[in-house]
Amino acid sequence: MKGKIAEIFESIQGEGIYLGKKQVFVRFYGCNLACKFCDTKPETFTEYSPRELFDKIADFPYDYHSIAFTGGEPLLQKAFLKEVLQLTKKAGLLNYLETNGALPKELEEVIDLVDIIAMDLKLPSSTQIGELWDKHRRFLKIALRKEIFLKAVICHSTEEEDIEKLLDVIKKSKRRLALVLQPNSYEHDTKLQQKMERFRQMCIDADVVAWIIPQVHKIRGIK
Ligand code: SF4
Repeated sequence: MKGKIAEIFESIQGEGIYLGKKQVFVRFYGCNLACKFCDTKPETFTEYSPRELFDKIADFPYDYHSIAFTGGEPLLQKAFLKEVLQLTKKAGLLNYLETNGALPKELEEVIDLVDIIAMDLKLPSSTQIGELWDKHRRFLKIALRKEIFLKAVICHSTEEEDIEKLLDVIKKSKRRLALVLQPNSYEHDTKLQQKMERFRQMCIDADVVAWIIPQVHKIRGIK
């Protein structure tokens, strides 16, 4: 079995609550979505067997927090991902999965091998690709078995109604989940900042822990 991998590199996590942690990033090729603001559409990939990919990961000196399986969407290649996760887990490494949160059946197959989940909630008014609320609900139900935090990208086009739906998903999970509101890096201006502050206040009013965290790696010019 071969998997399609766009790149493997070591860097600092630039998003979410693990911001600043050193990680080995394994970027999977291909995605099931087409978000308007997408900044990760690699055109090329290399094919690896699970063992070949594990050997590449093992080449990095072990002084990092975890391995970030990212994309694209890693769960799109679930059988390959599962074998790689088995190898990294067996080696005692921490598996951190960055996912768009829209493939619940695929998550079910690998959940036991994942340690931390960074789950996106795709707001239709941000992504412009339609609603994923039902998939997000089913995904979250499975993901709650592990450590998890949520992330939503906020754009000029993001509507308050979507924040209300997002808060409803979180409230119904019956768990106190951290939410990261991430400004679209291409639209980050005063107007967007004000909108984000308003959305953050909505979260506070709903008793949901929310932080505004931009993509720091882009601001600092690191990969
Ligand atoms: S889910 Fe992520 S990788 Fe896929 S299209 Fe959206 S932003 Fe891009």
